[in-house]
Amino acid sequence: MWMRNVPLDLRTRWRIGGQAPELAEASSQEELRGLLAELEGETALVLGGGANLLVSDQGPGAPVVVLGGEFKRQEVLEDTIRVGAAASIAGVVQAARRAARSGLWILEAVPGTMGGALRLNAGTADEWIWDRVLWAEVMLSDGSVERVVAEDVQPSYRAIELDPGAIFLRAEVRAPPADAARVRQEHMQRRIEKLRAQVYDKPTCGSTWKNPGAPSPSAWELVELVGMRGEKRGGAQVSPKHANFIVNLGDAKAQDVIDLMIETRRRVHEEKGIFLEPELHFWGFPGEVLRELGAGTT
Ligand SMILES: Cc1cc2nc3c(=O)[nH]c(=O)nc-3n(C[C@H](O)[C@H](O)[C@H](O)COP(=O)(O)OP(=O)(O)OC[C@H]3O[C@@H](n4cnc5c(N)ncnc54)[C@H](O)[C@@H]3O)c2cc1C
Repeated sequence: MWMRNVPLDLRTRWRIGGQAPELAEASSQEELRGLLAELEGETALVLGGGANLLVSDQGPGAPVVVLGGEFKRQEVLEDTIRVGAAASIAGVVQAARRAARSGLWILEAVPGTMGGALRLNAGTADEWIWDRVLWAEVMLSDGSVERVVAEDVQPSYRAIELDPGAIFLRAEVRAPPADAARVRQEHMQRRIEKLRAQVYDKPTCGSTWKNPGAPSPSAWELVELVGMRGEKRGGAQVSPKHANFIVNLGDAKAQDVIDLMIETRRRVHEEKGIFLEPELHFWGFPGEVLRELGAGTT
């Protein structure tokens, strides 16, 4: 059932964003197909944990679907883990650690859902979820379901190629049994590194910018070099702890985040000759704003 004018701020990690004109939760594949059919060709946006997403203060301007029910399931199999797209990344990572399965440490301390992880190709700087995906199933806007493998979506650093209306339903991820002590150690090490360096005590959406790659300094170093660490616009601030994170100090608007990002990107280009590219996804912003941010290539 579609609900009208649903606020999205509390559904994102940043606690920012206007209202969705319509929002519905789908607990099964059939329900999702029925909801999409009611849209008569209009493309729905799909919301996971909102951990890598900036929603405009005016809202996304399109219907939003949230997956629940059967999509929250996860199952540890012989050499793999089968996950629904709404399964929390934290739950899947914990299941892998407890069952002594290798490879899922790359998602340790990453908030959000497995659907978001598949869409963003989440992971570390050099190892990504799509390195481990055996297959994933997507529903297209006409309600048909397709099974895709890595070759079909051409994974790259924090990006894949996917039809705009495609919704991940589930996936099977390689996770072969391994030495339990080594698995525990890998998970703990990654968790400690992330908790030490990154921002978990304030509303953020993780890394703002993609790392430009060698020989460039990393994104946080570039932001720092141009003097943006600690800079504020309205209620948003470039985190004093990690310069690639923007925090909501309490009453930030999406526009405050955009202002900080545009200023950062301008300075980095002027002073370092590098165009930063956002890691985040954006909902409800005009094309000219997205172009100014260097967004839209994910
Ligand atoms: C403190 C912190 C640390 C983080 N660390 C990392 C890290 O180490 N590595 C990393 O890669 N990321 C990291 N992130 C970013 C974020 O956690 C991941 O990108 C995560 O995968 C986002 O998932 P989500 O469900 O919240 O996606 P959302 O923010 O809800 O959505 C992001 C995009 O994915 C799309 N999407 C969501 N679900 C689906 C679906 N089922 N089908 C199709 N598209 C979908 C949305 O439409 C949107 O375009 C971090 C974030 C925070 C706040």
